[in-house]
Amino acid sequence: MKKTIQILHTSDIHGHILPINYANNEYQDIGLSKISTLTKHYNKSNTILIDTGDTIQGSPMMHILQQKDHDTHPIASTMNHMKYDYFIPGNHDFNFGQEYLSSFTNQLNATTLCANITKDNQSLLFQKPYDIYSTKEGIKIAFIGLTTDYIPNWEQPSHIKNIQFHSVIDSLKNILVEVKKHQPQAIVVAYHGGFEKDLETFKPTMKDTKENVGSAIIEQFPEVDVLLSGHQHRKIAQTVRNILVSQPSSKGDLLSEITLEFEHHNGWTLKNKQIKQLTTNNYPSDMRIESIVAHEEEITQQYLDQVIGKVSGESMQINNQFLARFNKHPIVSLINNIQLEVSGAIISCMSLANDSTGFDDNISVRNVFSTYPFPNTLTIVKINGKELKLALEENAKYFTLINNQITISDTFSKPKEQHYNYDMFDGVEYTIKVSNPIGQRIISLTRHNHQIQETDEFTLVLNNYRAAGGGDFQIFRNLDVIKEIPKDVPILIIDHIKEVKTIVPNKKNNITIIK
Ligand SMILES: [Zn+2]
Repeated sequence: MKKTIQILHTSDIHGHILPINYANNEYQDIGLSKISTLTKHYNKSNTILIDTGDTIQGSPMMHILQQKDHDTHPIASTMNHMKYDYFIPGNHDFNFGQEYLSSFTNQLNATTLCANITKDNQSLLFQKPYDIYSTKEGIKIAFIGLTTDYIPNWEQPSHIKNIQFHSVIDSLKNILVEVKKHQPQAIVVAYHGGFEKDLETFKPTMKDTKENVGSAIIEQFPEVDVLLSGHQHRKIAQTVRNILVSQPSSKGDLLSEITLEFEHHNGWTLKNKQIKQLTTNNYPSDMRIESIVAHEEEITQQYLDQVIGKVSGESMQINNQFLARFNKHPIVSLINNIQLEVSGAIISCMSLANDSTGFDDNISVRNVFSTYPFPNTLTIVKINGKELKLALEENAKYFTLINNQITISDTFSKPKEQHYNYDMFDGVEYTIKVSNPIGQRIISLTRHNHQIQETDEFTLVLNNYRAAGGGDFQIFRNLDVIKEIPKDVPILIIDHIKEVKTIVPNKKNNITIIK
């Protein structure tokens, strides 16, 4: 006798239900409504649907929703319609407070699993630490939920009052003892967290902060059959040391499909396991979900069209992506100054998106999202003059000389456009000499016209993606983190514009780029 069970895994949906890019309202192959059409092709009686968190934060719809009273959360209605079995909370799911999160999980028909978060040092904060999924044939699959315990480093203290985040590894060790008493034929660990080491070489890829311990799970618990992960928005579907490892990107971009084949001789055993990832490109949006969220979508569109301030003087639109970087568009200083203001740091850096639009004269919320489309948060790190110069040298690689003209280096445009990996700094003045060899292009670096020494110490505010080394900025990975600001940068920009009402473009350019 044989039996096949499939596990379908989503993660880091970040509030994306509909296949839409809110920055320009264009169609995009993302969102739960397309995943829903795809999952309908599976036989529900042999299929388990699971989401590993960062689910209710990150899209404009989620932002506007948490400011308004609502009876049912559109993500909960959507996930109930899709018949999710399990939900594991992510760090961003705490961003709107405990009450908001528990109201959401209470609305879910799915069971919320999390073994390592307690309240008042006694009871579990969420429904269950693990669940034993049993088929009518008597096959048992254990699902264990875990959430990165790094949350107190990001979250506002009031949002996690009286909540304790316990070590993922220790909690898993304890729970596995209990789980094994049920004698399951397969063990699935569903973890909102990622990997701290390379999955081939097991060499560390980041500072060991315990934010991500997926690699340690693989190294220490060989009895685990499947490790569902998230948090890093990576595309992972592979077998590592005989454990199936999944991470399905973000925003519903991908669905991981895990197939477990069981065989019955003297009792059931797991005979075979496979993993693959599917895109939703060929699947239309589920019209039922479109109607479930129609009202919230209308509110979202009104919010995006809302005018929140105006531009005084010169235009703040971005008409030329190269010049916006070469001449440092005033919007860069605006955003850097907002980052400096909210963080209290001395230096700030930011990058424009590949197709940042800038602001209309009457600035709408949508203008902000189309200028800064990333749901990044901010990190404040300690950096010395030597490290700062190395970071600037990395950015100086963006330019090259062709026919004696300064242009963009191929590494930032081919095979993939990566203009978002060129950061511009405020708080210092510097000169990039493009004709110099890579690594020797920063020919002056000053603050208030005083030359910066290698040992000078500063605080730098940058987005969480870059602080984690995103865009291959290894230099930032090992810096000491002083503080994290869990609010999304677009929201910080919106709040600032609402407060000052009029934006005056600052044309002062502290970055000189020469041949
Ligand atoms: Zn996360």
